[in-house]
Amino acid sequence: MKNLLLSPLFLILLFSCSEADSYFSRVLNADSEEDSWLLHGRTYDESRFSPLKDINDSNVQDLGLAWSFETGTNRGHETTPIVVDGIMFITAPWSVVFALDPVTGKEIWSFDPQADKAWARNACCDVVNRGVAVWEDQVIVATIDGRLISLDKKSGEVNWDILTIDKSKPYTITGAPRIINGKIIIGNGGAEYGVRGYISAYDVKDGSMLWRFFTVPGNPDEPFESEAMAHAAKTWSGGKWWEVGGGGTVWDSMAYDPELNLLYIGTGNGSPWNRYQRSPGGGDNLYLSSIVAINPDNGGYVWHYQTTPGDTWDYTATQHMILADIEINGELRKVIMQAPKNGFFYVIDRTNGEFISAKNYVPMSWASHVDPKTGRPVELDEANHKLSPVLTTPGPLGGHNWHPMSYSPTTGLVYIPAQETLFIFSTDTNFKYNPRTWNTAQQIEMTYLPKDPEELAMVDSATVGYLVAWDPKIQKEVWRAQYQRPWSGGVLSTDGNLVFQGTSDGRFISYAADSGDLLWSMDTGQGIVAPPITYKINGEQFVAIQVGYGGAYALLGAFEPANENPGRNGRMMVFKLGGKQLEKPIKTIAQLHPTITELNPDSLIIARGEYEYHEHCQFCHGIGAIGGGVIADLRMLDSEGNTAFLGSVLGGVHGSGMASFQDVLTIDQATQIHEYVKSQAVLTGVLQAAEQ
Ligand code: CA
Repeated sequence: MKNLLLSPLFLILLFSCSEADSYFSRVLNADSEEDSWLLHGRTYDESRFSPLKDINDSNVQDLGLAWSFETGTNRGHETTPIVVDGIMFITAPWSVVFALDPVTGKEIWSFDPQADKAWARNACCDVVNRGVAVWEDQVIVATIDGRLISLDKKSGEVNWDILTIDKSKPYTITGAPRIINGKIIIGNGGAEYGVRGYISAYDVKDGSMLWRFFTVPGNPDEPFESEAMAHAAKTWSGGKWWEVGGGGTVWDSMAYDPELNLLYIGTGNGSPWNRYQRSPGGGDNLYLSSIVAINPDNGGYVWHYQTTPGDTWDYTATQHMILADIEINGELRKVIMQAPKNGFFYVIDRTNGEFISAKNYVPMSWASHVDPKTGRPVELDEANHKLSPVLTTPGPLGGHNWHPMSYSPTTGLVYIPAQETLFIFSTDTNFKYNPRTWNTAQQIEMTYLPKDPEELAMVDSATVGYLVAWDPKIQKEVWRAQYQRPWSGGVLSTDGNLVFQGTSDGRFISYAADSGDLLWSMDTGQGIVAPPITYKINGEQFVAIQVGYGGAYALLGAFEPANENPGRNGRMMVFKLGGKQLEKPIKTIAQLHPTITELNPDSLIIARGEYEYHEHCQFCHGIGAIGGGVIADLRMLDSEGNTAFLGSVLGGVHGSGMASFQDVLTIDQATQIHEYVKSQAVLTGVLQAAEQ
């Protein structure tokens, strides 16, 4: 025994174990580090609550800018910074990483993974990235083109770079990795196009894969990977979902309970969306739109709760999940809370997946309530769109999307970035899988805006956003802050009785956490979607947020651009008491000046172009070619741009994010799209002339 204890092997094992353990115990105690924001949700429970209160409801009006840092690119900025050991790590679009001084904003290093820009075509919802994970001396980033990369924390140099996807399929990664005891957990997206969802664990040491958990069954004629898949396959019926992929991607939210040793993942919509085409024989289609509890040691299934059985509306359960211990009916319960896209706020027992309660936090037209006996939503007959189109709320953008919530144990409230959106669901009865485009089996081209002015005004006024303070114990709204538009940013709450949120119209706002009183607001001049964080260094508390508008709703546009400075690069903005007051930002939205003034008299060509545009182009360039102020407004192309139009559509524009569409569009179809875009330019010019 003595010999063994002194053997070099034993000492090496002891050393490496204790070293790994020490960082794990450090992040398990993340709550105690006021100078850090160690984990994506600050702590493994993902509550996004900080005990800091130097900045509080009595002095927040003195908040001003400490520093800002430009990322050098526009599009959606969705990062949650990690602050550790005196360095702030952020990401920017295209999965670029920056290491910054958290006090001064000075750049320490940057890393561009050189993702293929043409891969943007596989990204349903912008080329965003939601942040890195840090473990000991490594910074881990997942890239839009499906890689997982380890960087040296001090220098930014690559330790290892591995591929997590099959590149013959349209997978993308936008989410932040989580790391549990040296295992990096990462999923991916792509269910709009058609992929099979999974989540994997990789060894932080060298990037070797440790396990993979598929969320939906593959071809039932082939052996299932696990018992969970054999069980899930019984809930799918008819159709060939495995050819489209089945969906259920794990593209964002996770949480971890160290005491139960359970990893919670949120799964996405089906591929295709439409259940009447995906699984025509019915069934719940496990594990779509579910919270699934997994053993992080081996990837084994433990329990699941499905929020939308047999989902057909893109009602993902990938939205932010928060773990808390709260008293319900006199009993302390270990709960997991989520406000998924479907509009219900759920409180679930996280030890076993048992349903506790659910209540709608936004208006909804697809279900009346969740049956407390079964834990299942009661669908409304009039919401059935199998045979005829149905105007439904929430739409596919959800009552709440990816933007993180926050839970304050002090107020006992959950703060939800909520929104109201509409969508016409309509079954595409001629649906055929096309591997190079969206595969929803819905008449997606019906998303374009109503032409009837009254109908348009109705949709316009019904498309709003708000921040809701929600009491999870009694399932009730306590206060709300109303916004004109959806798609505002994530939320931070602090023990200074404060809630911070950035808005889609560019304001960074602080409310009193208990009452919702607006205490402070600053106009940043750019739409905000990211969540704020806070930390305290050298006795000074900072509040940090990334600004830069983008993501699904922003790209679809539809209404007037919320982004006041289109094309302006995103920035990290960090605030402190006594910081600089900002000058009122210059609004660069000028009158639009379309160069096309003559309409093609062939209305059939324009109509065909309109159809193709909404099949292939609207997801980045906006509904009706009215962009959200993020990507080039095609109506405003000059003569050079119009001359290059067909070449750009069919050949792509290298390095810009504009891929070639030669595989799905003929030259005639590209010409029709051009005629449609030009017709929208003429219409814009006519409307402007009428207004003047
Ligand atoms: Ca989706």
